[in-house]
Amino acid sequence: MEKTVQLYEGKAKKVFATDDPERVIVSYKDDATAFDGTKKGTIAGKGTVNNRMSNRLMQLLELQGVPTHYVEELNERETVVKKVSIVPLEVIIRNISAGSFAKRFGVEEGIVFPEPTIEFSYKNDALHDPLMNAYHARALSLATWEELEQIKSMAFRVNEVLKAYFLSLNVKLVDFKLEFGRLGDGKIVLADEISPDTCRFWDADTNEKLDKDRFRRDLGGVEDAYQEMLRRVFHDET
Ligand code: UDP
Repeated sequence: MEKTVQLYEGKAKKVFATDDPERVIVSYKDDATAFDGTKKGTIAGKGTVNNRMSNRLMQLLELQGVPTHYVEELNERETVVKKVSIVPLEVIIRNISAGSFAKRFGVEEGIVFPEPTIEFSYKNDALHDPLMNAYHARALSLATWEELEQIKSMAFRVNEVLKAYFLSLNVKLVDFKLEFGRLGDGKIVLADEISPDTCRFWDADTNEKLDKDRFRRDLGGVEDAYQEMLRRVFHDET
């Protein structure tokens, strides 16, 4: 499958049309942003890591009954995915306090929650992705109640699968962000990416951060952390 025109360029990916109206090609960049786009940089090799890791996780989720947009990896940076219209919600699942949760509620990072928690943000750059609840999403007609229920249960299911999987790699899945899309027939599928850009990963023994927080917080070793996560995810392949 070949790229035709570029449809969109985001902060971390480009999206291209193909000859098939139901398929697009995603191309992952090394560009990194944080803090609402105010911090910018490059993480060498990030595009490759995120593409390969996300594809592997999407395939694992498909096997576990979670429908996704994944179709076929073309090369290290490019993947064919099903064309969707993105539901403009960032769905965040948290197992352990960190980041904006710790800040908002005035708690330290690292508190293990009694059960996973979920939150939504309105995906809207101009408004800086404000936190919203399901009733707000309904008020703005972003999704139906049925879709919101489906998104919620799929997100918790993704968490159960990925939490167990990463623990087997000696990694704690602290929190992560998902996006969902509608196919032509309206079916909801998991879309976007699952990578060190969109998840917090802590080494299970040392709590060392193995994700984008190394970039956000200028901790150094950013590239190494991404490569280490890729290595763990592909440890069974040589
Ligand atoms: N996240 C993301 N994109 C965003 C905001 C958050 O992928 O625009 C991910 C982030 O990497 C983390 C989780 O969602 O794994 C929760 O992020 P949080 O709300 O704590 O915000 P942050 O501290 O990253 O600003």
